[in-house]
This record gives sequence, C-alpha cells and structure tokens, in this order.
Amino acid sequence: MSELNGLDVSYFDYNATAPIRPEARAAVIEAMQSVGNASSMHHPGRQAAHRVDVARRQLADLLGCSPGEIIFTSGATEANNLALRAAFTAGSPLVTSPVEHPAVLETARTVTAGGPEDIVLLPVGGDGLVDLDVLKQVFAARQGGVVSLMAANNETGVLTDLRVVAKAAREAGALVHTDATQLIGRLPMDVAELDVDLLSLSAHKFGGPQGVGALYVRRGSPLPHRPLLVGGGQERGWRAGTLNVAGIIGMGAAAEAAARGLGEEVERVAAMRDRLEHLVTGVLPDCRINGRRDQRLPGVTSITFPGVPADAVLAAMPDVAASEGSACASGAPTPSHVLLAMGLSRADADSTIRFSLGYATTDAEIKHAAQAVKRAVMQVRAVLAEADGPR
Ligand code: PMP
Repeated sequence: MSELNGLDVSYFDYNATAPIRPEARAAVIEAMQSVGNASSMHHPGRQAAHRVDVARRQLADLLGCSPGEIIFTSGATEANNLALRAAFTAGSPLVTSPVEHPAVLETARTVTAGGPEDIVLLPVGGDGLVDLDVLKQVFAARQGGVVSLMAANNETGVLTDLRVVAKAAREAGALVHTDATQLIGRLPMDVAELDVDLLSLSAHKFGGPQGVGALYVRRGSPLPHRPLLVGGGQERGWRAGTLNVAGIIGMGAAAEAAARGLGEEVERVAAMRDRLEHLVTGVLPDCRINGRRDQRLPGVTSITFPGVPADAVLAAMPDVAASEGSACASGAPTPSHVLLAMGLSRADADSTIRFSLGYATTDAEIKHAAQAVKRAVMQVRAVLAEADGPR
C-alpha cells in the first residue's frame, strides 16, 4: 500500500493519472519560487525562457524529435483538438476508430461538422486491435485526408502498429496523427522513425503535473496554421497565451526521469501486471482478460468478472483505487464504448475493471490488490445470491 493523499491505498489508476514523480514535484516547486514570463526580455524573463527551452529538450529527447517540433498545450485533449483542426480538410476523409478517446472522437465530429461522410471508422476486433487492412481499402477508394489512431488504448492498453498506419497513409498522401497519451513514458518512442505528422501527449500520464501536455508537429509537414487560441503568438503562433512555465518545467523533469532506464522499467511493470493477472485468474478462474495480450502496454489489465457489477466490486474494496472503464467516462451511466466496440455485451462491459500500474507500483500492492479483488468479488456474489435466493 502507498500513502497517497493521506490514505493507505493500493493505487491502480495510472491510466487516469500517475502519481507525480519526485523529480517533477521538486522542479515545479522550484519554478514556482521564481518570477518570469518566458516572453519577457529582461533577466527573469530570459531565465524562464531558458528553463522552458531545457524542458523542451527533455521532452524532445523522450520522443526522439527536435525541440522545434514541440508545441506546449494544456494537455492531450487540447493537443488532439489542435491536431485534427489543422489536419482535416473538408471533402477528404478523417479516418479513425471507435475505440479512440472522446478527445479524438468528439473533435472528429466537431471538425467535420455537417459532413458525417467525412468520418471513416475502421473496424475493431474482439482483441481490441484496429483492422488496418481496411485502411488500405479506404485509401483505394479515397486518397488524402488524415488518419488518427491512438498509439495505445487507455482502457485495454492494446497497441496500434503505427508503422503500418504511416506506410499506408504516406502511399495515399494522407497525414497521420496519433494520440500517444498512454504510451509516452511507458514504452520507448522514436517519433522521427515512426514517420507520423502529429502526436499528442499529456504530462500527468508519465508522472508530470496535470494540465500540461504537448503536440508534436513534424517539421516539414504540410499543415496549415489553425490555432484554437489566438493572441500573443506564443509557440510560433500555434498556441497563444503565456506559457505554463512551472507545468512545462515539471513535464520536462518527468520526461527525463521516465526516459532513464525505461527498458528495464517496461520489464518490471509488465512482470507485475502479469503477476496480478496470474493471482486474480488463479482465484477467480471465470474472469476474462480483455484485449490482445501480446500487444499491450506493460502497465494495464482490463478484467471482466462475469455477473458481478464493477461498481459494486470497487465499492467493496475502498483501499484499492482502480476504475470502471475510463475515468473520463465514469460518473456517466454509459458502458465503455471501447469494450462495446470489441463486442462485449453491456452486462460484461459493466462488470469490467481496469487496473493500471506504473513506475511507483510495488509487489506488496500487487499482492494486496489480488487479495482485495478476490474478497470483494466473493462478497458481491454472496449478496447477489442472497437477493436471488428463496424468499
Ligand atoms: N487521450 C487519451 C488516450 C487519454 O487517456 C486521455 C486522458 N484520459 C486523454 C487523451 C486526455 O488527456 P487530458 O485529460 O490530460 O487532456
């Protein structure tokens, strides 16, 4: 268990937000103790600008791009909005998938306003993989446009083979955007080698502060400037407004910390996730793991407990912080659109819990969560059986 927010909880919601890394917290606190607008010409302003430059370099190193290809934003939602607004052209297709985050799906609906024929949704298999063969068929009929597919799914962790996407898109003269919010800092990334035009990320998913993120824009991409925010012309006119200096510095520190030893970290986190799955399926053999198991992020597992409502299980284990579907959708009584697109029934989607872990997860938390899940599922089953039993 970890001491979080003064509570003793095992934290399994890294895909909603990861705990801030000590390096990022220290950098934010230090930055908040200094004055300086990064656009000011005096000494404090230049100092702020210098620290922003360092952070831009730290983030660029994590992505494998040059610092001039990064535009700071308030997070991945804004980066997705900015990306699709710039990349979509009326009359050309916007190809995406039904398992994308609402920050892509809703943006796609907005930018293509009034032209539903402009959105093409690729089919998704029961394993959560987007069918990329259909992408070729789409381009055989209509060239150009933009493809927006997530690098890793926030609910199942299932990965998209972006190399295949980029190759097909290049051949058809289409732009490529990827929402890589869940992948950055969790798996190695070489964005230049991937050959995508646009990539979105959010700092808080890899241990940076909330409310700050970035859009990578490949140098030389044929993109028009269509800023969401106009004003002072910051970020080369892509995103006006005084920079969030402390947030950006915190994101840079988190990026550097995440990059350090990432290869070993991937192995460590995947081994813990596998152990959690092994322990849970060992005691609850009828549960099912969703998504293609050999093509997933290391730190997430989506588990269906048939016949047992996830909200009741979560309520029965208050010392484990996990989530039903995605945090963005929780609170709304709608089942996960991702699990439904994968063919799960509504009842199964409502009986699914996402456990996501990461850099600060311990073996003790894995053991504790497995025991808590077993106890909670059995407790909920007993209550349901009693309610169903003879009166
Ligand atoms: N895309 C994905 C895949 C996400 O998981 C999230 C966060 N849940 C976002 C975009 C939005 O990120 P933010 O809320 O930080 O803007």
